[in-house]
Amino acid sequence: MAAQKPRISCEFFPPKTGAGIDRLLTEVMPALNALGPEFFSVTYGAGGSTRDTTVGLVSSIREAGTDVAPHLSFGGDDDSTIAALLETYQGAGIKRLVALRGDVPSGTGGPAQLIYASELVAFIRERTGDHFHIEVAAYPEIHPEAKSYDTDIAFLKTKFDAGADSAITQYFFNVESYFYFLDQCAAIGIDKPIYAGVMPIINFSNLIRFSANCGAEIPRWICRRIEAYGDNQESIAKFGVEVVTQLCQTLLDNGAPGIHFYTMNQVEPTQQIYNNLGL
Ligand code: FAD
Repeated sequence: MAAQKPRISCEFFPPKTGAGIDRLLTEVMPALNALGPEFFSVTYGAGGSTRDTTVGLVSSIREAGTDVAPHLSFGGDDDSTIAALLETYQGAGIKRLVALRGDVPSGTGGPAQLIYASELVAFIRERTGDHFHIEVAAYPEIHPEAKSYDTDIAFLKTKFDAGADSAITQYFFNVESYFYFLDQCAAIGIDKPIYAGVMPIINFSNLIRFSANCGAEIPRWICRRIEAYGDNQESIAKFGVEVVTQLCQTLLDNGAPGIHFYTMNQVEPTQQIYNNLGL
């Protein structure tokens, strides 16, 4: 029997300017669409801070005829705001969502209590039945606020029990963490696909800062290699593509059901990695 083609998806964040949105829709999205991803996803700013731009971008991508999954979290919003957003998406022909808890927006104080993703999944199912394919987040290196490894995967199971269909992982560079995580999830009865989130290496200092916040480990050998390149961005980019291609190849060779690229709204690294994989 022929091996199933891996699922490929690509993530965007809403640009802050009109020019950025134009570039995303007229250059980045068409170039990545040529790779044939199953869908694009669009992030949702902490506390709903990008609500309008996320909705606008999602609608434009959908109008271009491509499947798109908005990310969604309660943030500080009440039930009626989220229910209205779900209605908007249903009306626009959106069939997928990425349901998240989100984080407290920095500098705003934010809501006193964030709503867990499992509660959002239950809310979506209650309001819209089986309309949406719901993705949730998973953490092979464990969510930074988790009390323990076991509680974190138990809460992932709660998201599936509430009605999620599949998960996308936080990015990681330690491939063993992903396969160990899949085994641990299977051991507690999770039988839904967990797609590997992959971050191309683009801006290394941003990556270091972001990884420290989200609990993704950058292996020492990668840091040392990149440090040695100094300001030579071309060498860093080339090395980044090599390392992430190797990561993806190992994932696919060992049965990962698919890859979700955190594109950072850039064409080249994702395109090059994809082409190297010969998919
Ligand atoms: P949850 O699954 O709710 O878990 C959050 C924490 O609480 C974990 O430590 C978990 O162990 C614990 N927990 C869960 N349920 C319970 C419970 N019932 N009782 C006690 N503890 C519990 N952020 C954005 O702001 N916008 C985005 O668009 C966005 N997209 C993302 C996409 C992906 C694929 C991933 C992996 C992350 C994304 N994030 C996004 C980041 C995400 O919002 C943060 O990682 C956030 O801190 C956790 O969200 P979650 O949905 O995983 O939370």
